Amino acid sequence: MADLTPSFWGWGFEERFPDAAAVASLARRVSAALGVDAPAPRPLPRLADAALPEPRAEVPPELAAFCARDREARVRHTYGKSYRDQVRGFAGDFRGAPDLVALPRSEDEVARVLEWASREGVAVIPFGGGTSVTGGVEPDVGPGYRAALSLDVKGLAAVREVDPVSRAARIQAGATGPAIEAGLAPHGLTLRHFPQSFELSTLGGWIATRAGGHFATVTTRIDDLVESVRMWTPRGAFETRRLPASGAGPSPDRLVLGSEGALGVVTEAWVRVQPRPRFVASATVHFDGFLRGAEAVRAIAQSGLHPANCRLLDPGEAFVNAVAADGHAVLLLAFESADHALQPWIERALAIAAEHGASCREGPVLREGEAAPAARDRAVESASWRSAFLAAPYLQSALVSLGIVADTFETACTWDRFPALHEAVTASVSDALQRACGAGAVTCRLTHVYPDGPAPYYTFVAPGRAGAELEAWSAAKRAASEAILAHGGTITHHHAVGRLHAPWYERERPELFARALGAAKAAVDPAWILNPGVLVVRGRDG
Ligand SMILES: Cc1cc2nc3c(=O)[nH]c(=O)nc-3n(C[C@H](O)[C@H](O)[C@H](O)COP(=O)(O)OP(=O)(O)OC[C@H]3O[C@@H](n4cnc5c(N)ncnc54)[C@H](O)[C@@H]3O)c2cc1C
Repeated sequence: MADLTPSFWGWGFEERFPDAAAVASLARRVSAALGVDAPAPRPLPRLADAALPEPRAEVPPELAAFCARDREARVRHTYGKSYRDQVRGFAGDFRGAPDLVALPRSEDEVARVLEWASREGVAVIPFGGGTSVTGGVEPDVGPGYRAALSLDVKGLAAVREVDPVSRAARIQAGATGPAIEAGLAPHGLTLRHFPQSFELSTLGGWIATRAGGHFATVTTRIDDLVESVRMWTPRGAFETRRLPASGAGPSPDRLVLGSEGALGVVTEAWVRVQPRPRFVASATVHFDGFLRGAEAVRAIAQSGLHPANCRLLDPGEAFVNAVAADGHAVLLLAFESADHALQPWIERALAIAAEHGASCREGPVLREGEAAPAARDRAVESASWRSAFLAAPYLQSALVSLGIVADTFETACTWDRFPALHEAVTASVSDALQRACGAGAVTCRLTHVYPDGPAPYYTFVAPGRAGAELEAWSAAKRAASEAILAHGGTITHHHAVGRLHAPWYERERPELFARALGAAKAAVDPAWILNPGVLVVRGRDG
């Protein structure tokens, strides 16, 4: 990927952006789905036209070897990849660019940045792959800082050590998904953590945001894969002990997981790895209704079977992802193992699904011992689903280029609350889109499932009105977040809090927890320079 150019405003690489014919075809599909005229393609923005202010700080001599303040570096570190970020990037609006960008090559250089910034009152925003969808990397730090510096950890990207006995690996925080898998492959191992942003996001970013991978049960999030972690703070190293488990008080790992760059810079972690799977059993199952399918998924999640993939798509999702066009909800089910064949597991899961009215039009597919395609390719079972899954982020950027309002959001709730939450979320987002845009569609899939509840993931699409796209998006986002909170969900199952979810996160967490977190921040970051405004607010929480 070294020869590809990362997009400065949209997802992925410029060379992989859908071509004109693909964008035109997308416009026709949107027009048919929403019952509106096909939107006209707009020319893609040029980096040379990006508008940003002069930097407010010079590169200090002690950081000169790895710090920059040129336009391109600042533009590329202004935003993550949320819908809102992409709309502003597409418009060339980079007025919130960081003043400086540091690319440390060692933990010592990370320490030097934090020392200098603490002394000078400069805000520091840790930056991994820059794929945040919640405003986590945006240097919107409020008043009280002399400047803002984006601290990009991608220079720390090595797989340092592998312990084949305990099956763990020590990996630096800036390693992206492909770099991690490439470093583990010679050992026959995999981390088996495959978020949709896998190509560009980093281990440190996953840890800082408690990212969710592709797998539906058991090890759903990076939390489950972290054995120990090392974070550099303005007060020095915060390193936890390598342990399979511990009951020694509140877990220090848990203070780092989800800390979103507000407590320190994760520099490396020991993560739990495993052999690449050799056995895969998969099936595609159809249901007459989404909630009927959800009942089956609940029964499977409570059966102790632990499928690797148990992804229920509502009819709209099934249609868009080309897995069914006949109005059925579709369950993509798969088991995988490095150790044993899985026929009894998939057959029992299919029997449970059948008890809930499922039809399985083709029997399960059983595979064994194939020469190693990436574990991720095997895990994402249906080929059409897989290609749709990987193309989706590019299509979202193409939708932005067409002026379409298009975003996703996710939550988790207990099973007893799911039907009411789903109904309320779908109705209130549809209503918000109807009011703002005159039309709109909301679809849902269950991405992760637990014995006590699902994690539903929603997508909405609506015809934007030129210049009012962000207003419409904001109304839909607000409607979704209010409905989620009112019906007992969480503001995020895995996308993190960032700046975008702060108002709802603050209502979700216990008040005393906010103060405890504020005290923790004051202990490790006394000058309050790390990602200000994220998770805790100075003067209010600590
Ligand atoms: C197309 C697309 C698909 C996505 N799919 C998924 C998905 O399947 N699952 C999922 O969970 N998320 C997903 N996301 C969201 C995003 O990829 C995750 O939040 C991811 O974990 C961010 O990793 P990153 O390296 O890009 O971090 P960044 O975006 O660079 O940073 C995210 C946050 O972590 C902090 N941070 C980053 N690195 C460090 C570090 N080393 N130390 C301390 N703090 C740090 C930042 O300050 C920021 O607050 C998706 C996003 C996009 C655009």
